[in-house]
Amino acid sequence: MSLRKIRVFPDPILRKKCKPVKLIDSSIKKLSHDMLETLEYVGGIGLAANQVGVLKRVVTLHLPEEDHRILINPEITKSFGTREVKEACLSFPGYQGLVKLSMKVKSRWLDINGSYYKLSAEDLLSQVLEHEIDHLNGILYIDHLLAHEKLNDAKQIGLKNILADQKLDDTKSENQPHIHDVDINLIVDKENTKSDDYEHLETKLDLSLIYSDSSMEDLKYDLHNAGYLSDLDNKN
Ligand SMILES: [Zn+2]
Repeated sequence: MSLRKIRVFPDPILRKKCKPVKLIDSSIKKLSHDMLETLEYVGGIGLAANQVGVLKRVVTLHLPEEDHRILINPEITKSFGTREVKEACLSFPGYQGLVKLSMKVKSRWLDINGSYYKLSAEDLLSQVLEHEIDHLNGILYIDHLLAHEKLNDAKQIGLKNILADQKLDDTKSENQPHIHDVDINLIVDKENTKSDDYEHLETKLDLSLIYSDSSMEDLKYDLHNAGYLSDLDNKN
């Protein structure tokens, strides 16, 4: 097994639809085990194959206090109700946002041996299934952000620290930075991709809880490194 690099937004592969697995061969087995190892390494709970650059319908899960799971060709067959949930994503290191998801889903998939599974899921499992199956369809949780909701810095610490650490947690810093809000126009340039599979995305992010002592230049630099800005207006 080996670790795979997690693709970070706005990598265009995150907007591509993954293709169904027709045969669970050694390459799919290796991919699945590498994805599980990568998931363990970063301490995440779910990972979809396009997040490691492979356009196959494979998802790995490791929910707290549960065994890990490999899901081949997973599908949501039915969903019930709606609820608001705080979401985070390994492809958006350090951020979280409030989205509307189902209360409950019915899902089905094949395991690594090709056995068929059917499950009614609630709570975190329902959330993770929706999140990861969205990934396989090129959909990201930021697409579901509730109006006026903020995509917040998950740790409430400086961007540089977050970018250096892909592991997410809810630890709140003792010293709350004071808040200033910055509006960013996030534009994924379609020219960078070879496909028309997905739409040009233009989203206004309201980034708050950034250290008040970071200058606009620091912020631009950090956003550039995170892939949110294609060019630095000012390179000094
Ligand atoms: Zn994700």
